Amino acid sequence: MNYTPEEKAKWDKLIEMIEESLNHSGQRPFFNTFIKPLKLYAVSGDTLYISGDTAFNLNHMKQRYGTMLYSTVPVVFGKRYELEYYPESEIFRMVRPQEESSLNEKYTFENFIVGQSNNLAFATSLAVAQTPGDAYNPLFIYGGVGLGKTHLINAIGNYIQRENPGMKVLLMTSEAMTNALIDGIARKKTSELRDRLRGVDVLMVDDVQFFAKTKATQEEFFHTFNSLYEKKKQIIIASDRPPRELPEIEERLRSRFEWGLTVDIQKPDYETRAAILRQKAEEMGIDVPADVIDYIAQSVNSNIRELEGCLTNLNAHAELMKASISLELAHTALAGRIGQAARAVTPELIIEVVAQQYGIQPEDITGKKRSQNIALPRQIAMYLCRQLTTLSTPSIGAAFGGRDHTTILHGCDKVADAMDADFAFQKRVQELRGFIENS
Ligand code: ADP
Ligand code: MG
Repeated sequence: MNYTPEEKAKWDKLIEMIEESLNHSGQRPFFNTFIKPLKLYAVSGDTLYISGDTAFNLNHMKQRYGTMLYSTVPVVFGKRYELEYYPESEIFRMVRPQEESSLNEKYTFENFIVGQSNNLAFATSLAVAQTPGDAYNPLFIYGGVGLGKTHLINAIGNYIQRENPGMKVLLMTSEAMTNALIDGIARKKTSELRDRLRGVDVLMVDDVQFFAKTKATQEEFFHTFNSLYEKKKQIIIASDRPPRELPEIEERLRSRFEWGLTVDIQKPDYETRAAILRQKAEEMGIDVPADVIDYIAQSVNSNIRELEGCLTNLNAHAELMKASISLELAHTALAGRIGQAARAVTPELIIEVVAQQYGIQPEDITGKKRSQNIALPRQIAMYLCRQLTTLSTPSIGAAFGGRDHTTILHGCDKVADAMDADFAFQKRVQELRGFIENS
């Protein structure tokens, strides 16, 4: 209960008084429709929280009788209260915020395709699932939109829940958590929420970049974090960027995010994209020929959700046309989605764009000069050729002025290592890639 028995008795008295007064003025039906459904939900500070049956009725009630209620309250309660009204459906949501935070059972480790782009994130997630609170705490997973963060954290939760049915696993989006915290603070019921958050064995916060920057909510999160961490409870956070790039989050919280392990998910490489497409096709129970898989995997290279979208679209098209899925059908069905991305990226184009971005000539890249201002863009161009074309390393070598394929491999490795070590550099390479894809 959110009110004392005395408060409840006063509320009943209030309603009685209103009823009498409306009966007197011949408004009995209005009483039945608008006042009778009202219930006292909570008393907190200077506010009475009142629920009604529908938003529509509440609005009418407020217009007709709002002032009357407001001015009668002090007569019964002995002091003034602000009145806040909520439809029952919303009250229900307010008192049961965990509804928004249940795990999605369809996301598991079994149906998560592992490739170069996500194997570290996968391996650490599995380790955390197998020894929650022990392996890496907190685990911070970041990566771009649609690359599998939500899938992975749900997989962790589902795994833990399956292996340890007694453990309390709570997954919340940062928005749900912010709302719950704000709600708790406003209703001075933070302690209840606090107990709930701090009583879990595993707390997962998805899309932490949307966490509110208000001081009070961050304060709560900070203490929750500390309390769980001290008890060796597992904390998992997903974000679209690394902790140090979350300026909205207080420094002390941000630095704690880095106490455990931070892993990222990159855009999937071609092999992974093709494997994901094959698996999704199987899940959807549709037959997709290899050349179509190849066509989609080549053309869509940013986001896994988009890969799925292509398959769904293609399938719908096939059913509509009563045709089987073929490359021709894929060309027509996906024209709008794939559009110009389908245009072939050539080594010449890559060399040209990279040279232009670094203020050098394409011939510098294909030539023999070894100065650093040329060697680096040259290696980046090599790397992007491997990423964006299907050419073999000898063919790429040929496009780079007849270089040996080991030189190409070496250059690509250097760029990959540098990207791992330096987030700014990684972003720079991704930016170049974007220029090429959109040129
Ligand atoms: P994010 O949370 O990073 O934006 P999601 O986890 O929502 O991305 O993933 C988007 C979609 O792509 C989901 O349907 C998810 O199942 C799928 N997906 C992402 N990564 C993989 C993967 N490695 N294997 C299989 N499906 C994946
Ligand atoms: Mg997500």
